[in-house]
Amino acid sequence: MADLFPAAESPLEDWTDLGRDLGLRLLVKRDDLLPFPLPGNKYRKLLAEWRARRWCRGDVLVSTGGVDSNHCRTLAWFGARLGCEVHLVLHGDATKVDPNSIAVRMLGDLGATCEIVPSAEVADRLKTFEDLARERTDRVWVVPGGAHTAAGVSAFHRAARDLLSGCEVDVVVVASGTGATQAGIILGAHDVGRVDVQGISVARSAARGAEAVRECLGWFDAEDLPVNFDDRFVDGGYARCTEATRSAVTMGWRHGLPLDTTYTGKAFNGLRHLLAAGEIPQRSRVLFWHTGGLGNYLAEST
Ligand SMILES: *Cc1c(COP(=O)(O)O)cnc(C)c1O
Repeated sequence: MADLFPAAESPLEDWTDLGRDLGLRLLVKRDDLLPFPLPGNKYRKLLAEWRARRWCRGDVLVSTGGVDSNHCRTLAWFGARLGCEVHLVLHGDATKVDPNSIAVRMLGDLGATCEIVPSAEVADRLKTFEDLARERTDRVWVVPGGAHTAAGVSAFHRAARDLLSGCEVDVVVVASGTGATQAGIILGAHDVGRVDVQGISVARSAARGAEAVRECLGWFDAEDLPVNFDDRFVDGGYARCTEATRSAVTMGWRHGLPLDTTYTGKAFNGLRHLLAAGEIPQRSRVLFWHTGGLGNYLAEST
């Protein structure tokens, strides 16, 4: 039977050539190839959230993120597919956002309504919109920014357990933002044993990021598991970068691996440095969990 949404299945690929250049055995989990071009790890998270909540036609979905948020565009896509109304409270400077940018146009084309407000006003605006929507319908869902939910963590837990139980890996390297993806992978790696998980921060400090990952683990009574959340490759902050990240992105693309400077390029730069510093031993079997980011790459270039 045909499914409304395809299962969150993505290829595991052997990147021998790129790995040889780096001095390791490299596998890549291609979550950038999950259905609907562009969502990356947000497809896995939001599919799990949809299965838990069963949003349906006529429901109102409300959420928040940056203008170029993969979570927001993926939620807008779920809304378009399901016939839900989607309203997004985007944090940013409305005077600086180009209404013709790919990110903004895509949200509009998917039928979402958006408002752009300073970060400090996001919570109030979400509440105001939610209250108004509740006067029309009971079926209003406020989806946490970044799809930072227990269902999302569980989805990565299952995916990581299934994947790691079928291949020989010493360490998983992943771009980490809110930490839900990393937490899920830590849970899956723990089930299998002997696999380290190295989260590379895309923005947060090590203290704040690790705390967020531990919070996710706590939802599953697993807050004692080790958390590596490395903030040495943040490279200027969220959606900023220097030549360090850019050269990692170029190295990926030269081998045919599409990276971006907001997420996966930082993780890849981190991987290169951890290897060079011997923190990941040469010839380790590394699984690079590619979380997506092609939309960010496209936005960067316009
Ligand atoms: C959201 C996102 C991440 C971070 O995922 P978290 O679960 O928030 O840590 C990593 N890579 C890409 C491409 C993303 O869109």
